[in-house]
Amino acid sequence: RNGTTTTTTTTVKPPPVTLQQSPIINLDRGDPSVFEPYWRKNGGKCTITISGHDSLSYFSDPNSVCWYMEPELQEAIRRVHRVVGNAETEGCHVVAGTGSTVLFQAALYALSTSSSSSVAAEPMKVVCAAPYYSQYKEQVELLQSRLYEWGGDAETFDGSAAPFIEVVTSPNNPDGSLREAAVANKTGNGKLIHDLAYYWPNYTPITRPADYDIMLFTLTKCTGHAGSRIGWALVKDVEVAKKMTTFMQITTIGVSKDSQLRAAKILNVVAEDCEQHAADKTFFGESRKLMAERWEKLREAVKDKKDVFTLPKYPKRYCNFSGRYFQPAPAFGWLECKEGCDASALMKAHNVLTRGGETFGVSSRYTRISMIGREEEFERFIERISGIQCVDEEDE
Ligand code: PMP
Repeated sequence: RNGTTTTTTTTVKPPPVTLQQSPIINLDRGDPSVFEPYWRKNGGKCTITISGHDSLSYFSDPNSVCWYMEPELQEAIRRVHRVVGNAETEGCHVVAGTGSTVLFQAALYALSTSSSSSVAAEPMKVVCAAPYYSQYKEQVELLQSRLYEWGGDAETFDGSAAPFIEVVTSPNNPDGSLREAAVANKTGNGKLIHDLAYYWPNYTPITRPADYDIMLFTLTKCTGHAGSRIGWALVKDVEVAKKMTTFMQITTIGVSKDSQLRAAKILNVVAEDCEQHAADKTFFGESRKLMAERWEKLREAVKDKKDVFTLPKYPKRYCNFSGRYFQPAPAFGWLECKEGCDASALMKAHNVLTRGGETFGVSSRYTRISMIGREEEFERFIERISGIQCVDEEDE
């Protein structure tokens, strides 16, 4: 496990003056601009017209648990999961959100107020195996709720005492690992939220349809349309789905219909493409190729830097969608520096902004770099890698 803490102090040697003057490369955010060239080429197919008389009502579908969800979006979501084979939607209720970020909070609310939880006694602990997506902790702590509180690393959490919530992110942000619950299934006290934002063939082989109680997905990482702010939850228990909908009703009275209609169109275009063409020729096939090329470049550049940092290795797996074996190409690179080196400070000294390990609940010798930003920025980073050096100084 990589949750070790460092004991030696390390000063990062300032880079040569030329580098100090070099432009800042921001690889901190996971903004999915990598897919923009694809959509520039193919975007015409996704055009929709929204007239002045559209989207007036709050309501969309009185027959659905999620009454503000456009039926076209619900259909498109089920269709895209069916053609990709990454999630079982049969028997699930679909709840729409403004990105999946808000649905994580809706799920926390639903699980911590269900009849079997001790609402009034103690806040329920929310845990996730480290390194965990940095926003979970921030979201759990933001409102200092009496319903739930952050419980930290699931691997070291004692789940025997009281009901708790475990978040499982697979593939994981930040390190790309494929995960199962660390503690929830061991004690019978744990309720699970599976965040499957990256379980798409652009990033990882699809080995089976995921089939869990609450599964979160987002357009952000599926097609790259982060700005449309559309996410969805596949929820088995109707009572949980209703509570999640209530959370959305009370906090935002639903989700933009304009965005929902656009997302439905985009997902239908993607699904139709998959139904009609060989996997390699689809959006997912082309995106996977792009991600694989970036990873190849990164591995090549890092090969000569073994004394500075290393990257995780991912075994090849068979992808049912693509009909071939391939190595995962995660949305983030998880760099590990040697003991005592502060990885994000080292990168910052070379004008590369990354997100340090401590935000993800592990040591500062790790740092996360976005692999899904713009081409020029990524290429500049690859060029800059050769100049990065980590120099330890003796402890005083
Ligand atoms: N889960 C994970 C693991 C993520 O990385 C992200 C985006 N960075 C999200 C959820 C939320 O995405 P959005 O709110 O854009 O749907």
